[in-house]
Amino acid sequence: MYPKPIKNLIDIFLRFPTVGRKTATRFAFHLLNTDSSEIDRLIKELKQLKSSVHTCQFCYRSLEKERDLCSICDDKSREPILAIVERETDLISLEKTNQYKGYYFILGGNVSPLRKKDLKKVRAKDLKRRIEAPESFGVKEIKEVIIATNPTTEGEATGLFLKRVLDKFDLKITKLAKGLPVGGELEYADEDTLTSALKGRK
Ligand SMILES: [Zn+2]
Repeated sequence: MYPKPIKNLIDIFLRFPTVGRKTATRFAFHLLNTDSSEIDRLIKELKQLKSSVHTCQFCYRSLEKERDLCSICDDKSREPILAIVERETDLISLEKTNQYKGYYFILGGNVSPLRKKDLKKVRAKDLKRRIEAPESFGVKEIKEVIIATNPTTEGEATGLFLKRVLDKFDLKITKLAKGLPVGGELEYADEDTLTSALKGRK
């Protein structure tokens, strides 16, 4: 229906989170009507994204400069708690509550209840290594793990999977309290709701 370059762009945007066909098509046509200088800027930023953004070696948060730990993981006054989140945006949401003073681990995705291959999408092995030997990353020993996945079907399935992975460790395992909107995501929960979900964890 559309010329190939437009169709190709639509296919790329369709893979973006929360983008459906209508939005993908709008994005493609938006770019078609954008000045060449803006397009050049976009290309430049896209090229730099992978090469100039680094990740924290403990939590996988993105960093502008190459260094071992991010400011959170490097903060020795943090409590020995580890919140496991699906994405970096969830970390930011919890951090914004100012109520959580532990560390984080970004799983990098979630697990669909019926798709075994999804297990490879999340950093479960990396997580185990961090709990087994946090000192080797420069982080203190973890005493409690909070499963802070989203209250969605995939988030719940991921939580159950994590519980199985972590059960063999001598750890207190808690989960954010119910009360977060079901089917919603941490990223969109307000700070008060998140704070009470943290305080009511069990
Ligand atoms: Zn970090």
